[in-house]
Amino acid sequence: MRRLLRWITLGLLALVLAGVTYVWVQANRRPSLEGYAQVPPAPAGAAIRIRYAGVATLLFDDGQTAWMTDGFFTRPSLARTAFLQIEPDPAAIEAGLRSLGVDRLAAVVPVHSHYDHAMDAPLVAMQTGALLVGSESTLNVGRGLGLPDARMRRVQPGEQLRFGRWTLTFIASSHVPLPFARAGVVETIDAPLVPPAHSLKWREGQTWAIVVEHPAGAPMLVLGSAGFIPGGLQGVQAGTVFLGVGGAGKQPPAYLSQWWDESVKRVGAKRVIPIHWDDFGEPLDKPLLAFPYLIDDLGVTMKHLTAWAARDRVELKMPLLLTPFAP
Ligand SMILES: [Zn+2]
Repeated sequence: MRRLLRWITLGLLALVLAGVTYVWVQANRRPSLEGYAQVPPAPAGAAIRIRYAGVATLLFDDGQTAWMTDGFFTRPSLARTAFLQIEPDPAAIEAGLRSLGVDRLAAVVPVHSHYDHAMDAPLVAMQTGALLVGSESTLNVGRGLGLPDARMRRVQPGEQLRFGRWTLTFIASSHVPLPFARAGVVETIDAPLVPPAHSLKWREGQTWAIVVEHPAGAPMLVLGSAGFIPGGLQGVQAGTVFLGVGGAGKQPPAYLSQWWDESVKRVGAKRVIPIHWDDFGEPLDKPLLAFPYLIDDLGVTMKHLTAWAARDRVELKMPLLLTPFAP
């Protein structure tokens, strides 16, 4: 009997050890980023220049008016994010804006209100004079950092805003399913969010599909998360789709296939630029890394996207980091 107990204990210990080892290994192994084609740099004199700064941060500039999605630069480590409180880092934000070569912005537009999209946006607004644009949840992120209401603009699904020659249309979209989220429930930030706070306090709020129009080119579509509402983009046309792919590698193939059809085929896109594939616990001043396998599998996502892009004659190109490219 005692011997049996000892074997059971040893067996359980071995299981725990195997589990811990698996988590540790998968938290450190990542898919390679090699072998994917990149967009070419913007040609001299390009009317529209776009710069990518990791996650879903994109700077759109026509030489007269610049605006950006998200403006997320703090990138606290994933271990810190999981176990401790986080807050915007003004120095990282300043450095990020400098590396994008921008000091004035018309607007900063979080694609939804999770911390990796909305946490830094109020400070970006303060440092650049931008209007913070988004759902009530996003505005509560602004209020928590003392951004006055006059510097914020709440938008509703279907609304259109103009900044210089840019027109932004805000369409309700959906977030990629998350492991611990309740299906069909969209959590919101209902009071000013004062950092430092745990990352989960930056609740989703409205997830947007943003149609970006400019007289100098075809419409573009920014999808900051790999979710979709069936038929939600009915009637939208876009030449280029910035496709948030974070978490897609853990979704079943049937989901991914419908996601492609709803996000790319439905809008008649000619080019897809995957975004939100980088490990945002790593800094921006080194080459980006893909999420570790514990969180996502970019290799799976890209295998599917590559096949469907070839089938549907859509160009699939990774964004350049910080270097301007044309849409
Ligand atoms: Zn999110």
